[in-house]
Amino acid sequence: NHQVHIIGGGLAGSEAAWQLANAGIRVKLSEMRGSGDMTPAHQTDGLAELVCSNSFRSDDAERNAVGLLHQEMRDLGSLIMAQGDAHKVPAGSALAVDRDHFSAGVTAALEAHPNITIVRERIDQLPAEGLTIVATGPLTAPGLADSIGSATGSDTLAFFDAIAPIVHFESIDMDKAWFQSRWDKVGPGGNGKDYINCPMTKEQYLAFHQGLLDGEKTEFKEWENVPYFEGCMPIEVMAERGVDTLRYGPMKGVGLDDPRTACEEFPNGRWPYAVVQLRQDNATGTLWNMVGFQTKLKYAEQVRLFRTIPGLENAEFARLGGLHRNTFIRSPELLDPTLRLKSRPHIRFAGQVTGCEGYVESSAIGLLAGRFAAAEILGRDLTPPPVETALGALLGHITGGAEVETYQPMNVNFGLMPPIEGRTKKADRKLLYTSRARAAFAQWLR
Ligand code: FAD
Repeated sequence: NHQVHIIGGGLAGSEAAWQLANAGIRVKLSEMRGSGDMTPAHQTDGLAELVCSNSFRSDDAERNAVGLLHQEMRDLGSLIMAQGDAHKVPAGSALAVDRDHFSAGVTAALEAHPNITIVRERIDQLPAEGLTIVATGPLTAPGLADSIGSATGSDTLAFFDAIAPIVHFESIDMDKAWFQSRWDKVGPGGNGKDYINCPMTKEQYLAFHQGLLDGEKTEFKEWENVPYFEGCMPIEVMAERGVDTLRYGPMKGVGLDDPRTACEEFPNGRWPYAVVQLRQDNATGTLWNMVGFQTKLKYAEQVRLFRTIPGLENAEFARLGGLHRNTFIRSPELLDPTLRLKSRPHIRFAGQVTGCEGYVESSAIGLLAGRFAAAEILGRDLTPPPVETALGALLGHITGGAEVETYQPMNVNFGLMPPIEGRTKKADRKLLYTSRARAAFAQWLR
């Protein structure tokens, strides 16, 4: 006789169950591990198992967006943060945990809660009725994934991410880069200046091409078996096909006039030998993705190589590129501001399946899904946290702020918040973001 059914006892499902149960709501939590099923990445039957690193990343709530998210979650009674804090291991300014004790602590807390019933079972269909939270993660079992695909439309469910790096706008050198769409083409709602272009000379391009060939790459895990499908071929694979493949592909310079080369013959400027284009990635224009730059290069290699691109010498990356097996829905189109599936509002989504990325972010969205469901049952009005907060920024991105067509998984970062107006020093800006967030969060809590 539960009031909410949560599917998936990972990070998000565990946190959602805790929030609901503490609000006095009876919860059934279905987890397939422990019933004979396993995902390709999990190794135990424990709830909230950490499948890879044991780090919740920075715990600095003053200067880091994920540290700020930690703090907001603690303020909302997060089980994941409480158990993380209880089982932390030394890791400098990061919060790292003993993974076995952490998972055991989460499992014990949920098992002991009188409002929670844990059932070890695999669910293959989205329930037709009853308040439900789907928190089955990046490795959602295939039967349920099919059912989600039928409910949302198959082109709104992805099985792989193909992540191109995302750059903070304020770190791009616009003295070298310029705004222009190819051939000044004006798309819907555009003005012929929708892209940022970073030009390359022949020498720069050849060195960059060599860098792609030489750069150290991350290997796929055996079970990942990610296909290189049309439109998301890693740039280093394209580079391997020939020295000019990229220059005739995503890096082509035709139709783009570099204003710095303007002269009598070419009053608007010449076309560069090659170009790196960036496209706006969120509604506020604080984040820009590198078009066609999905890659398996190692992170340090990406930073080093992409900072050789003219205009990106000081680039700060909100996200680096990658390709992984990852089941996620196109949330900005499908979900309402409280994470309900618009077409079936009895179903909420939470965790990485919504397209957030990371242990902490997945837990945070689980926390919000639990609180929204509780408010719905209790007949309370719960406005989403403001976008100035870490929780609100992440939620806002997932439920509407991100570009729908290019939606790819995202970590929390300051670029998801409204920009700080005026010129400030980089070091001060982070403090301004977090102090503004704290004030907004305190007011929302009240
Ligand atoms: P999960 O924690 O995966 O929980 C989903 C749960 O649902 C699982 O327990 C699963 O068994 C269950 N389930 C699935 N289908 C069904 C079904 N049909 N019926 C019942 N139960 C079901 N993030 C980081 O921050 N750091 C990392 O180092 C990191 N490494 C990762 C490595 C890999 C290989 C992967 C795939 C992801 C990694 N992530 C990492 C990303 C992500 O943060 C984690 O996957 C995180 O666990 C997501 O939380 P979640 O609750 O959404 O999903």
